[in-house]
Amino acid sequence: MPRNGASEERVWDLLVVGGGPAGLTAAIYGARAGLDTAVIERGQMGGQMATAHRVENYPGFPDGIEGAELAARMYEQARRLGAEFLVGEAGRKDLDLGSPVKTVAGHRARRVVLATGARPRRLGIPGEERLLGRGVSYCATCDGPFFRGRRVMVIGGGDSAVSEAAFLAKLASKVIVVHRRDRFRAAPALVRGLLALGNVETMMGRIPVEIEGDDAVRAVTVRGPAGGPPEKVEVDGVFIYIGLDPETGFLEGEVDLDRNGYIITDRAMRTRLPGVYAAGDVRAKELRQVVTATADGALAAMTAERDLAEEEHQRRRTNGR
Ligand code: NAP
Repeated sequence: MPRNGASEERVWDLLVVGGGPAGLTAAIYGARAGLDTAVIERGQMGGQMATAHRVENYPGFPDGIEGAELAARMYEQARRLGAEFLVGEAGRKDLDLGSPVKTVAGHRARRVVLATGARPRRLGIPGEERLLGRGVSYCATCDGPFFRGRRVMVIGGGDSAVSEAAFLAKLASKVIVVHRRDRFRAAPALVRGLLALGNVETMMGRIPVEIEGDDAVRAVTVRGPAGGPPEKVEVDGVFIYIGLDPETGFLEGEVDLDRNGYIITDRAMRTRLPGVYAAGDVRAKELRQVVTATADGALAAMTAERDLAEEEHQRRRTNGR
C-alpha cells in the first residue's frame, strides 16, 4: 500500500514522480537494477491509462485489457520487485532539482524521473465548470454508466474522443460526436469502428459554445467555425476529449519545456538538469501511447542507473588518488 508521510531522512537512489505507465515502468526497471526506488503519486495508480475502458494496442493482450487492470498489474510488478510507493504531490514547495541530492515534495533522491503525465484540456465555455460532475465529464469509463439509455455528446476528434464514443455507444441510447473540422484526427481504424455503430451520429465542423442546464446538463449549443446560426442539441451528458495539457506547471524555470509545456529531453530521457529525467506523456515526443510511455520509463531508469554508476566510479577514482 502507498505510504503517507515524508521519507526526509532517507535518500532514495531513484525517485519517480507519477504512477502512470511511464512511472511504474521506471520503478520496475529501477528496482530490478538494484536501485533504492520510490514512486510518488498523488492519486490513483495508472494515471490516464487507469481511466481507459480498454487498451487494445498494448502488446501481449490480444483481446485488449481494461486500463485499470493493466495499471494494477504494473503496480504489483513494481511492488514485488521492491519499489516503494509514497502518497504526495510534487509542487513548487519543497522542490530542488538542481542540487546533487534532489528534493521533490519533501522526499530526497540522487536521481529523479519526472513522469507526471498530462491532464484533460478544458473547453473553457460557459456551463463547463458549473456542470462538472452533473453531466459534464472527462472520463467515460468513470461516468458512462450513469448515462445508460440516455443521450450523450462527445466533443473532440482524436483517438480519445473516437474510442470513448464507441464505448459510450454500448451504454447510451444515442451518442453525438461533435468535431470542429470535417475530418477526424483519430486513427482510421478507430473511426471506421465508430461509424459502423447504429446509434452514433456525427456533427462535423461545429464548435460548442455553451453547455446548458440548471442542476444537470440539458443541452449544448454549437456553431460553425466561422460563426453561423447557433444550434441547440439536447443531451443528458457531455464527454470532453479535446486533448491533454502536460502536468508541468511546477517545473517552469527548472527544466526546458517546449512551447506547449512538454519537457524536452535527449534520446536517453535526460533533461537539461543533471540527474533529472523525464518519461511518458509529459515529454515532448511524437507518439503518446501506453507502449511509448513504458519504453520511456525503462530508458529513463536505465540511464539513471548508468549515470549513478558513472558518478560512483568517478568518486572512487578521485578518492583513490
Ligand atoms: P488529440 O489527439 O490532441 O486530439 C484532440 C482533438 O480535440 C482533436 O481532434 C482537436 O481538433 C480537438 N480539439 C482541440 N481543441 C479543441 C477545442 N478547443 N474545441 C474543439 N475541439 C478541440 O488528443 P486525445 O484524443 O486526447 O489523445 C491524446 C494522445 O493520446 C494522442 O497522442 C493519442 O494518439 C493518444 N491516445 C491513443 C489512443 C489509442 O491509441 N487507442 C487512445 C487515446 C489516446 P483538431 O483535430 O481540429 O486539432
